Amino acid sequence: DPRINSIRTKIRLVPNFPKQGIDFLDITTLLLDPKAFKNTIDMFVERYKNKNISVVAGIEARGFIFGPPIALAIGAKFVPLRKPRKLPGEVISEEYTLEYGSDCLEMHLGAVQRGECALVVDDLVATGGTLCAAMNLLERAGAEVVECACVIELPALKDR
Ligand code: 5GP
Repeated sequence: DPRINSIRTKIRLVPNFPKQGIDFLDITTLLLDPKAFKNTIDMFVERYKNKNISVVAGIEARGFIFGPPIALAIGAKFVPLRKPRKLPGEVISEEYTLEYGSDCLEMHLGAVQRGECALVVDDLVATGGTLCAAMNLLERAGAEVVECACVIELPALKDR
């Protein structure tokens, strides 16, 4: 798909961010190009429309950028999966381990119903730990996770 290259070239690599030795892939430069941003959303919408998906769950923070336009286009609700203590209502939490230490994602109780089909959205997959935590949250709430959609697969993996 020729759109992939138009998207790839808009993603900026920032060396040594957020710390020495890390090459950070920055999607804010993709957002500055309306055509490339639209191509990104369109490719996901083409893949996920008419798949009976009623929930798009976006992971804080960059899943909040790509998730809502996909949700609107496929006629699904948007559910934010947030870092701890950000959601005001009752939540379920899922802890996950990082290279150093641990982190946690939370979702509002009642945001999804048992049996709903869900799509998880984030900007980038590295180890997949964050996506696994998101899938666990949704599955604990009784949803079925159809797929996880990310804009970037880390270059150390297959680099797509
Ligand atoms: P994982 O849990 O798969 O190891 O890491 C993925 C998470 O870390 C995602 O939520 C993603 O936003 C964030 N992340 C890790 N490295 C990068 C990066 O280089 N660029 C961006 N945009 N996000 C990253």
